[in-house]
Amino acid sequence: MVPLPAAIGLDDTGTRPLGVIISHGDQDHWGLAPQLPTDIPVLIGEGAASILRAAKFWGSGVDLHEAGHLHDQVPSTLGSFTITPYLADHSAYDAFSLLIEAGGRSLFHTGDIRGHGRKAAAFERLLADPPAPVHAILMEGMSFRAVDPDDSDSVERDSVERDSAGKIVADSKPAADSVAEAAEPAPELTSLTESDVETQLAETLRATTGLVVVLGSAQNIDRLVTVYRATLRAGQSASSGARRCAGRWCGTRTRSLPSDHQTAAPRSPGEARPPRR
Ligand SMILES: [Zn+2]
Repeated sequence: MVPLPAAIGLDDTGTRPLGVIISHGDQDHWGLAPQLPTDIPVLIGEGAASILRAAKFWGSGVDLHEAGHLHDQVPSTLGSFTITPYLADHSAYDAFSLLIEAGGRSLFHTGDIRGHGRKAAAFERLLADPPAPVHAILMEGMSFRAVDPDDSDSVERDSVERDSAGKIVADSKPAADSVAEAAEPAPELTSLTESDVETQLAETLRATTGLVVVLGSAQNIDRLVTVYRATLRAGQSASSGARRCAGRWCGTRTRSLPSDHQTAAPRSPGEARPPRR
């Protein structure tokens, strides 16, 4: 078992933290939470907490016995700290960025954040109307990339490997005759939006006879909605919406829907409603 990191108040020494705030339900964000002293209050989104409780039997969930819930742009207080959650576009349901204010200073913690999911409107809203003032930003990121095939500098930048301290440990700058080849972004470097996935999956569904099985995280509600919408676009239906298969869900196409059902594409919670025609 991975032990809790040595931190003031997590063992028997020092003052207890006022609370632990979990931005969303991905396991790399709550994995050690069951080891927290039980007198430390935990806050998380209500929907995220419910999903984790439901997934507890499988080992990919937990009952956090949370003391309170995060709600979009509803401030809550812990001691002299005010925490305001901002709904974030993320594959984990009910994810938040956090504005933390105390003593006239403020820190904005992005949490895991993206701008190409089903709730891209939440990201756009944040860009259009960011909290202010913010004295420091704490960003999370596992997929920062921008490869412009017309920008040889970007190819060069991407060829440099750095260690965790930012020190260059290897320079795999491509030879001149391979630059042209490298300028073509590798398929794994191109990002698909959830809308792209929906469109491409619909094409696959239309072009395929027989069973189509889609595997995805059981907790990725955005992707579940994407698959369901793709089946509607393709004039098919997801079998019972989705079924759990060994901790994942499998959407399968089985039959045609009447045409009047094909206009009722569902949205992810928080996803912008499409404009009326
Ligand atoms: Zn995450």
